[in-house]
Amino acid sequence: MSHYPDRLKITWDKMMSLGRLNPNDKFSMSYLAANISQEVNGVSWLHGIVSQKMFAPLWNGYFPEENHVGYVTNGVHYQTWTSKTWQKLYETTFGDGFMSDMSNPKYWEKINNVDDADIWDIRKLQRTRLINYVKNRVRENWIRSYESPSNMVTVLEKLDEKVLTIGFARRFATYKRGDLLFRNPERLAAILNNPKMPVQILFAGKAHPNDGAGQDLIKRIVEFSKRPEFLGKILFIEDYDIGLAKKLVQGVDIWMNTPTRPLEASGTSGMKAVMNGALHFSVLDGWWVEGYREGAGWALPQERVYENQDFQNELDTQTIYNMLENEIVPMFYDCSDDGIPHRWVKCIKKSIAEIVPMFTTKRMIDDYKDRFYGKLYKRSTELAENDYAKVFEIVNWKEKAARAWNFIEVLKIDFHTTEFENPQDAYGEIALNLNRLSPNDIGIEAIAVSKKQDGSIVIDEKMNFKLKECNGKIAVFRIEGAPHKTGIYNYAIRAYAKNDLLPYKQDSKLIMWI
Ligand SMILES: *Cc1c(COP(=O)(O)O)cnc(C)c1O
Repeated sequence: MSHYPDRLKITWDKMMSLGRLNPNDKFSMSYLAANISQEVNGVSWLHGIVSQKMFAPLWNGYFPEENHVGYVTNGVHYQTWTSKTWQKLYETTFGDGFMSDMSNPKYWEKINNVDDADIWDIRKLQRTRLINYVKNRVRENWIRSYESPSNMVTVLEKLDEKVLTIGFARRFATYKRGDLLFRNPERLAAILNNPKMPVQILFAGKAHPNDGAGQDLIKRIVEFSKRPEFLGKILFIEDYDIGLAKKLVQGVDIWMNTPTRPLEASGTSGMKAVMNGALHFSVLDGWWVEGYREGAGWALPQERVYENQDFQNELDTQTIYNMLENEIVPMFYDCSDDGIPHRWVKCIKKSIAEIVPMFTTKRMIDDYKDRFYGKLYKRSTELAENDYAKVFEIVNWKEKAARAWNFIEVLKIDFHTTEFENPQDAYGEIALNLNRLSPNDIGIEAIAVSKKQDGSIVIDEKMNFKLKECNGKIAVFRIEGAPHKTGIYNYAIRAYAKNDLLPYKQDSKLIMWI
């Protein structure tokens, strides 16, 4: 980035300061991005909320929920991630118009017209292809890695294209808890080796080269996979990349995600899996908060129960074991005389009909266009008009407001909130010496807040003051009425530098609580 300060005609220090909160902090790419972007968004609904909190220090004086951080939930590219077999079925079943209107659920609903047998045939075919591919990979890699040949033979014998197959593949960052399932290896072994209802799990993923803890997770899984009870039942496949990701999401029956709440921004790979008729089993975090429907996959609760992470890990693991044992595995093997597990196929149909359309690239691009790109296009056009006249106007105003801000004096605050029979008669006035600013440069609002049970403070209502009178530098602002909900409120008043040319309130950075 060394050439940027020159191009922007700013100093190196100025540029670096855009990526810092305080002068001696570590430089943050995210802060830089948030500081130089008009719009900011998370990649799922929940991630938007988490990001409002994460970036709250940048916009001091505002509550996190006021920050201009929105969201667009990720989506995945149909042509890239859906197996050719499914694509053929979808396109013949859904008919004309589907390819250019892919986020429209009215097409995906037609999956309900397909015979269970046809769906189950594709699932079996996809799983068989995956297992054959994995076996070939094992043959090639085992020889390179000097592992015992007898272990290889066992793995090849045990991997089975008829067995319920769970996939877990992603970056091995510690928050993703890749080793969660191994907390009670005996219980896991009992689930996998149940002779009537066996299960196998395929792992893949890479850790960042500087993430020692992430690499240790992989090492742990590889070590577990070599124990006799897990050999050929749990396999860690090396060299995770897009090619391997495709095979996995297209072939497995269940895609699993077990992140620490609420750290999963999206968890996009799950969307790839459901497009291929896999069922998603995940903590309600990231996209799954929006995607999960009862009877179309499985979820672990969104709220954590324990502060203590170790207790939470234990609870989540027990929940997963219980759900696998009591619900998921038996449903997979509950086949009718025709050899088809109809309840399972029903879940697949519901997942395809109701979940998949919402997580297509089409929906995502539409959202970006509606929420951001359209707005940004309009604004950049307006800013560029007349040789960027508006930009100069904004910069001049910002400089003026910054110089004048500390000269504002609060002269009087006069609130009458309790003495009236009719609460709507309540009023408050505030007198300010604005000094070098005009009344138009300032916004004043009363913020009524209440405390929630968990101790957090939330805004119940914001009320704007109106200018009552202005004599020279002295301006009186007035507010009338009461909050709409009954109850006892705490309230406070704040003033901020206001200009309609700003794209969002926090942009002026000038704010004071009175
Ligand atoms: C989709 C994908 C990811 C992201 O998956 P998450 O579930 O969000 O972790 C990472 N790596 C590869 C190769 C992928 O295809």
